Amino acid sequence: MDAKRLEYFKEKLKQKQQALTYMVHRTEGYGREKEPDIQDVADMAVESYTKEFLFGKSSGDRHVLQMIQEALARIEDKSYGICSNCQNPIQPKRLEAVPWARLCIECQGLKEKGLLDQ
Ligand SMILES: [Zn+2]
Repeated sequence: MDAKRLEYFKEKLKQKQQALTYMVHRTEGYGREKEPDIQDVADMAVESYTKEFLFGKSSGDRHVLQMIQEALARIEDKSYGICSNCQNPIQPKRLEAVPWARLCIECQGLKEKGLLDQ
């Protein structure tokens, strides 16, 4: 991948990284703040549902953040855009949609079927 494309994806990844970092921090702040107000069982159920939802989302965001960090590292060592399984270039459309993708679309398919060993 040429330097210009790498720079483009680096920018894209950094923007997403910033947005997610903000989301994760905000979600965690909300979880802590809400803790002392729990009044009765009904409220508690709602609270725990809301929290589960938020924390669930937040751990998803964390996972993506991790993937973004790895993608940024791959940009630095110039291995970005190469499938880590079959070593073929990852489809440009796929990178456009999921700039932190580590696998090409075929290998991702294998992984989702549990056929990939990583
Ligand atoms: Zn592949």
